[in-house]
Amino acid sequence: MAEDADVIVVGGGLAGLVAATELTDAGRTAILVDQEGEQSLGGQAFWSLGGLFLVDSPEQRRLGIRDSHDLAWQDWLGAADFDSDDDHWPRQWAEAYVAFAAGEKRAWLRAMGLRFFPVVGWAERGDGDAMGHGNSVPRFHVTWGAGPGVVEPFARRARAAVARGLLTFRFRHRVDALTLTHGAVDGVSGSILAPNAAARGKSSNREIVGEFALRAQAVIVASGGIGGNAELVRKNWPERLGDPPRRMVCGVPDHVDGRMIAISQRAGARLIHPDRMWHYVEGLQNWDPIWPNHGIRILPGPSSMWFDATGERLPAPLYPGYDTLGTLAHIMRTGYDYSWFVLTQSIIRKEFALSGSEQNPDLTGRSWAMTARRAIGKSAPAPVEAFKRRGADFVVRDNLEELVAGMNALAGDPLLEAAHLRRQIEARDRQFDNPFAKDMQILGIHNARKYFGDRLARVAGPHRILDPRHGPLIAVRLNILTRKTLGGLETDLDARVFGEDREIIPGLYAVGEVAGFGGGGMHGYRALEGTFLGGCLFSGRNAGRAAAAAVA
Ligand SMILES: Cc1cc2nc3c(=O)[nH]c(=O)nc-3n(C[C@H](O)[C@H](O)[C@H](O)COP(=O)(O)OP(=O)(O)OC[C@H]3O[C@@H](n4cnc5c(N)ncnc54)[C@H](O)[C@@H]3O)c2cc1C
Repeated sequence: MAEDADVIVVGGGLAGLVAATELTDAGRTAILVDQEGEQSLGGQAFWSLGGLFLVDSPEQRRLGIRDSHDLAWQDWLGAADFDSDDDHWPRQWAEAYVAFAAGEKRAWLRAMGLRFFPVVGWAERGDGDAMGHGNSVPRFHVTWGAGPGVVEPFARRARAAVARGLLTFRFRHRVDALTLTHGAVDGVSGSILAPNAAARGKSSNREIVGEFALRAQAVIVASGGIGGNAELVRKNWPERLGDPPRRMVCGVPDHVDGRMIAISQRAGARLIHPDRMWHYVEGLQNWDPIWPNHGIRILPGPSSMWFDATGERLPAPLYPGYDTLGTLAHIMRTGYDYSWFVLTQSIIRKEFALSGSEQNPDLTGRSWAMTARRAIGKSAPAPVEAFKRRGADFVVRDNLEELVAGMNALAGDPLLEAAHLRRQIEARDRQFDNPFAKDMQILGIHNARKYFGDRLARVAGPHRILDPRHGPLIAVRLNILTRKTLGGLETDLDARVFGEDREIIPGLYAVGEVAGFGGGGMHGYRALEGTFLGGCLFSGRNAGRAAAAAVA
């Protein structure tokens, strides 16, 4: 039977777009199939903040950060904690990816017009051990233009390939099966879904209006993770993170449904590390939701005090922005699936960033004037102030007793005692009487402020939380927010998928989140952040180039 194209790519998120454009740049023909409409091209990456992990970049060097490949690899190994036979390929992917992030990545992106915000962020500050989890130095490079700025060059290249007749889009085509001939994957089949007029990110209908089948020499699966499917998240939830949360907010659009994982398994693909995942502990219910149960993550600076649902301060080093999964495991051991930040207006003004391109109109709109406003006045950026005013998880009061009463009312359970919180906050506040201290969080704040980027834009000047000059007091209820899938389909470095028999399945490739961002889980157990978009770029590129050579 004749082929419809050289290669079929399933999924028009970042990983699929990169793979498709690498194929067509090499002169191959491709069909890009996506269950969503054209308005959603770019998938999750569009909504992302556009933060990318780069190592020893000019942006870092200009800020006095001395980074190196060896330091990044040490950090990666500490975060990943690779510990099983199934980590053979993930570890090789990790090694290749860190080399990419320390090497060609930035120049490759810049050649396509991508630019970075000059202040490098410090995400996942870690567990306090040089050989453990976390970034030793700031490495989170935010794309000028945020997520849409990352998607832009690839969407542009894809549209140019359509114009050249090398690429065909098939939107509202949902793949339900991979087809095989003599053990080789050579096509896809599925349902044609009714047209959808809903805006990007909104739920689209699943009404089936037809069927389709397409044939090619190879298929690249780029269908994303499971973060939009609470049932799958709970089913795969690992024991080491406690019981699955009863209540979670959702950090990704509906289309991140994980269906293609089981579909690929039915074609023989091997799934590894399904219980490795990356969910956040600082989720807010979006007062202005786009997708169902839409949650927004706070990317916090280090100064807020963090309490569990009963009012006990979280232990060292579980501070804001330090150790996402360590904190998640701790919270789930408390028997409650939420926790609290207590902070001041001075802290929220400087230290709350919200993840999501729509929450950062200054960066997304590439407006220097708007971005500069972050540094002046008493107010936080407008989207943060809007959450403070309208968000269901915020309590704002002038004194601690009223704040705690508001927190208890919000929780619907009088678990918190104002006197107990006061004792802990006053003890913390006394640590600011000297430029030195014993409280690890205060030491962390002093340390962060030695980095110019943090002092300028991310870490409030040291002050007492109960100092009314820095008020009002703010409490934020933090929900568990689902996001990323760290395990996935096992692949070699060309992104060729292994079968259950540990042999390569001819014709089948997997990239991006469905492949655990490379190999089946290049992050291991934990991530250093900015590595997800990067993993899509790297794995999409590898697969596109390898498949282009294979079908030549
Ligand atoms: C709000 C937000 C902020 C983020 N911020 C960052 C950040 O700053 N830095 C970072 O590194 N990462 C970030 N991420 C994570 C990152 O954006 C995603 O992990 C990444 O974009 C996933 O890309 P993907 O191509 O693998 O999958 P997706 O973007 O999920 O795309 C998969 C596509 O496949 C389609 N599809 C799925 N199944 C089928 C099927 N059966 N048939 C046809 N089509 C199908 C879907 O419709 C979708 O279009 C963020 C994510 C979000 C949501």
